[in-house]
Amino acid sequence: MIWQLEGITKHYDRGRFPFRESWTVLDEIDLGVVAGERVAVVGPSGSGKSTLIRCGLQLIPRTSGRIQLFGESTEGWSRAQWRAIRRRVQLLVQNPRAMLHPEVPVGALLTESASLHGHEQPQMAAEQALQEVGLGGRGASLPRQLSGGEQRRVGLARVLLAKPELLVVDEPTAGLDAAVKRDMLDLMLARATHAAVVMVSHDLKTVARVCHRVVVLAEGRVVEQFRTRDVDASFAPSHPVTAELLGAAGLLPSEVVS
Ligand code: ADP
Ligand code: MG
Repeated sequence: MIWQLEGITKHYDRGRFPFRESWTVLDEIDLGVVAGERVAVVGPSGSGKSTLIRCGLQLIPRTSGRIQLFGESTEGWSRAQWRAIRRRVQLLVQNPRAMLHPEVPVGALLTESASLHGHEQPQMAAEQALQEVGLGGRGASLPRQLSGGEQRRVGLARVLLAKPELLVVDEPTAGLDAAVKRDMLDLMLARATHAAVVMVSHDLKTVARVCHRVVVLAEGRVVEQFRTRDVDASFAPSHPVTAELLGAAGLLPSEVVS
């Protein structure tokens, strides 16, 4: 198992003592991904998808639950251990600004990534990655000189350079034009063929096309799971949220991954 989450629970506190009340954003979530597998986590906005992956990679604290990465329990890990393991994991976040340094041109940022991940000619690798995501020659740009969609593509270039064993993507197509959505997703997967992938999205159609398995989240619980290859004309979702997402997707059997 590449990434295994067991019983992940997250409460947020609202208000101050003595009026504090807490509410449950994630309730005992189990999620696992094996080598070479691509799993989609879908659910409506606010269902807890982003919180789940952030808790599951220890980027924010969880209330309870266990995490295993690359077959090892992360119980009691030091910061250094987390840092080391995160090199093998790439997270493509929904808001790319958070990971781009405002004063560092994107080419320099990618060169640094390339050298961190062992490319022998980091500058060339960075230039090539920019070209692959359609931003050739834009290496001197600062993040704020790029549009939201372009910033996302820089994030993708960084993922391509990192050759991750586990790739986690939050809303893979957010901020991308319809025309480049498909290309970007294909590029991401073409370069991460051996990686385990977890894609989080409210858009079932986009992720079902490239994932083997779908986990449906609603109000912080896993309400249904299925294999994309089982989605055919006779597929009967057992939860209304799944039905809704499938309806919105207008999913055809020929469009799912085999
Ligand atoms: P999704 O990614 O599925 O749209 P999120 O994980 O972002 O959902 O949010 C799930 C729920 O947790 C939402 O109700 C959201 O308002 C709440 N939430 C997220 N972050 C915080 C926070 N820092 N403090 C309080 N509530 C939060
Ligand atoms: Mg989200």
